[in-house]
Amino acid sequence: MGLFKKKKYIHINPNREESQRNNQKKPHVPDDMWTKCPNCKQTLYNKELGSEKICQHCGYCFRITATERIELTCDTGTFEEWDAELETEDPIDFPDYREKIKKVQLKTGLKEAIVTGKCEIKGQRTVIGVMDTTFIMGSMGTVVGEKITRAFERAIQEKLPVILYTASGGARMQEGIFSLMQMAKVSAAVKRHSNAGLLYITVLTDPTTGGVTASFAMQGDIILAEPSALIGFAGRRVIEQTIRQELPDNFQKAEFLLEHGFVDQIVPRNELPASLGLLLRLHTEAEGGGERE
Ligand SMILES: [Zn+2]
Repeated sequence: MGLFKKKKYIHINPNREESQRNNQKKPHVPDDMWTKCPNCKQTLYNKELGSEKICQHCGYCFRITATERIELTCDTGTFEEWDAELETEDPIDFPDYREKIKKVQLKTGLKEAIVTGKCEIKGQRTVIGVMDTTFIMGSMGTVVGEKITRAFERAIQEKLPVILYTASGGARMQEGIFSLMQMAKVSAAVKRHSNAGLLYITVLTDPTTGGVTASFAMQGDIILAEPSALIGFAGRRVIEQTIRQELPDNFQKAEFLLEHGFVDQIVPRNELPASLGLLLRLHTEAEGGGERE
């Protein structure tokens, strides 16, 4: 199948000579060949990015889909999805919202902006949730909140840790106050899970902002982040205008948050499965100590 595509594209390729010079055996569609790193602004040859999609120059981890993330993180064949069919009901009757959701569902193949379930990482059983920015910027509506809450409740029943990969523009404005209420709902579930003596790890990825940062993203017992990820609550310009001060260049970057104690460790994407596996193993042995206050 790929072979036909390549043959077709090479005829309409305006940069054919350049393309062939760079890769004589396998010509690619020009649009798909190069990517600009949003962090260091270097132009990267797509093949160099690899399946993990890491910038070779600055270590920035490109945004990836929930499916790609699950493939990179979970042991092969161990992921079991939960609540895959949950869909939003358009709670405040927002104009054109239902159509927008349908369109995004068709485009992404997802029903909502988070995928949750159970898996093994380096042989350790865990509940996992992965947000996906391709679905309305990973915004948190009622279904995102509900799926996370259910994941925590099942984790309590099955005495399992929870790992959440966050990536979100914040609360979903099309669901108004109902999306803001998810912050409290998920936080209560996180607390019950914590009371049961179970481990909760968050991995902050680019971007983690708004109501997600203000609730479950920052409630992890251990908070990891990917290099150069944007992590914050309000946008940079809003803060600058409010406090009438210029902010440092790396403000709201994972490294800045680490320096100021908001993040425990920055872990490159290719090392995350091993780090998570180790953390899970260390805590599994310590768990089962019963209720905490
Ligand atoms: Zn870069």
